[in-house]
Amino acid sequence: MIENFVPYPLTYLKGAGSRKADILSKELNIKTVGDLFKLYPFRYIDRTKFYQISALNEDLPLVQIIGKVNSKQLVGEGPKKRLVVKFSDSTGSMELVWFQSIKWIDENIQVGKVYIAFGKPNFFNGAFSIAHPEIESYPRTEGLIGNSTLQPVYNSTEKLKKSFLDSKGIQRIIEHALEVYLHHVKETLPSYILQKYKLPPLKTAIQNIHFPQDLKALKNAQRRLKFEELFFIQLEMLHSKLVRQLKYKGMVFSKVGEKLNTFYNQHLPFPLTGAQKRVIKEIRLDTQRGIQMNRLVQGDVGSGKTVVALMSMLLAVDNGYQSCMMAPTEILARQHFHSIQELVGENLIKIALLTGSTTKKQREILHKQLEAGEIDILVGTHALIEDKVKFNNLGLVVIDEQHRFGVQQRAKLWQKNNIPPHVLVMTATPIPRTLAMTLYGDLDVSMIDELPAGRKPINTHHFTEGQRLRMFGFIRREIDLGRQVYVVYPLIKESEKLDLLNLEAGIEQLRYQFPLPEYQISIVHGKLSNAEKEYEMQRFVEGKTQIMVATTVIEVGVNVPNASVMVIENSERFGLSQLHQLRGRVGRGADQSYCILMTGNKLSNEGKLRIETMVRTNNGFEISETDLQLRGPGDLAGTQQSGVLNLKIANLTTDHAILKEARATVVQIFEQDPMLQAPDHVLLKYHLDQENQGIRLDKIS
Ligand code: ADP
Ligand code: MG
Repeated sequence: MIENFVPYPLTYLKGAGSRKADILSKELNIKTVGDLFKLYPFRYIDRTKFYQISALNEDLPLVQIIGKVNSKQLVGEGPKKRLVVKFSDSTGSMELVWFQSIKWIDENIQVGKVYIAFGKPNFFNGAFSIAHPEIESYPRTEGLIGNSTLQPVYNSTEKLKKSFLDSKGIQRIIEHALEVYLHHVKETLPSYILQKYKLPPLKTAIQNIHFPQDLKALKNAQRRLKFEELFFIQLEMLHSKLVRQLKYKGMVFSKVGEKLNTFYNQHLPFPLTGAQKRVIKEIRLDTQRGIQMNRLVQGDVGSGKTVVALMSMLLAVDNGYQSCMMAPTEILARQHFHSIQELVGENLIKIALLTGSTTKKQREILHKQLEAGEIDILVGTHALIEDKVKFNNLGLVVIDEQHRFGVQQRAKLWQKNNIPPHVLVMTATPIPRTLAMTLYGDLDVSMIDELPAGRKPINTHHFTEGQRLRMFGFIRREIDLGRQVYVVYPLIKESEKLDLLNLEAGIEQLRYQFPLPEYQISIVHGKLSNAEKEYEMQRFVEGKTQIMVATTVIEVGVNVPNASVMVIENSERFGLSQLHQLRGRVGRGADQSYCILMTGNKLSNEGKLRIETMVRTNNGFEISETDLQLRGPGDLAGTQQSGVLNLKIANLTTDHAILKEARATVVQIFEQDPMLQAPDHVLLKYHLDQENQGIRLDKIS
């Protein structure tokens, strides 16, 4: 992309000596002029707009003020030492305060002179002040480029600032870089695409993203660069999908055989839903085509993904292949193992479990059996992707709860065979469409959009502390009806000690409220050993305990159909999709189920919105869309770890329309010119040839 075309090191730039180049590289990973061009401003100040001191109020964001320095004074000692400047205009006076870089500021600000101060006004002790304002002399002598009235503001860091690379400093370097190197920038998109979507040329966009002529030019530049960013992500994704399809012969599962038939006719305890049948059919078609399957199955919590996975694995077994199923936690892997064993019975196929707590000896036996092809289905955790684990002929990989696995981990599984196995990714968190398109754009998508018959929607209620006794009464009633109850506490690393105290206090209170022997409590939290967790879980699964108190370890996958109440303590501290996951642990049987969200009396606006959303709807899609809007995509779906999304300018929450255009464009390109041989597409081909970061499926042998 852009950086490929201006690969000159920063040290070529006047004003960016080796020290500055060094620190830019360390702090922002900027190594070339091209990288520098891609350091986009995070906002712009309208430089024609100034505030008068009398017009300030605390709700204003950052403001520019023209004023005179009346005095400056060093006050305080040690860490409280600061430089206080009295600053005034014709309407009033205020203070500018610095706690850092005091010496430099002191030397560069002169009493009696007029400056422009820029920062966020605070009201304190009856007067306005700005801490650490940016300051420049007035009238402006530099930094005016063209007739731009919008001044770029760049993110900086403490270290950068110490090397005079605050926003202003960065602006100066970029200004210079543009002067010298902008003409080296070559267009990256075919001109017919630019015309079709009315996008400005790359050079213009880069110039205007840093120093926009006006607001309209800025908007156009942003649109162009967002389009570019999303376009190349889609290009790479759809390209690797194409390569995979052209290059690899996928294993062919030609028949439905004895195992799947026996299971379907004799073991399956319920009729499949229409959606389950449809998805199984899609998988069946995929695995017959002689192309590697890469399919994402999305289905809300409780929609019955496990049985779809199981039937796909039986299909593999019937065709002489092994399968594995990977889960994100040990508990979940065990649950899958047990529930699959229960579903298929003892004798039909050989199933094994491999997790972090499998002993060395068991492991050695397992490895041998796997290599000899004696195990049909291997269920496990990350332990599955260790290099030592070798299969005889792995035909299908199922990944449950995808959002906890990175793309790299997915690829590691592909490499377990000469011919890459079929891959089925199951995710319970419905992913907002934009995110799915960007993250899993190379996968085909199936939806289980129907819950098994007879499920009643879960009733969700919000209780505050004052209603705690009512909550206890409620769960007592349900237990007396023979049902079971979850009580979940947040446990977050940063506040782990406090959370554990909280959990213990909660358990004390429950014991006090439920003293009789007919109320037994299971407790599961991260500090327990796996064996202890398993023991406690099992007691609850078997109905020996009525209440399960847990931290979020049960967040994914636990299946106890008799449980009818989910109480979530401090629920305002959970994210929306987590709340939805937790709630999905109940409502799995025929009984009416309930979710009770406990919170304190005071809630932040965002907290309130989350709770209201949960009370209002059971629809996982609606919830994930709201979640995306509240949190941004960074947190969702483990995008940070997976490293696929490192968006510099596009925003998946707001740029849906641009993403759609970009994707449609790429789809069309590959339809019309899959080998990218048209002269218009030479650059795209070049880009794909250059691009060797990330996972190139065509490089995996
Ligand atoms: P999830 O999609 O959240 O992984 P599970 O596969 O754990 O859901 O299924 C949830 C529950 O629904 C399980 O108890 C499972 O046995 C049951 N179930 C799955 N499919 C059906 C069906 N077609 N009819 C009735 N119950 C079903
Ligand atoms: Mg599941």
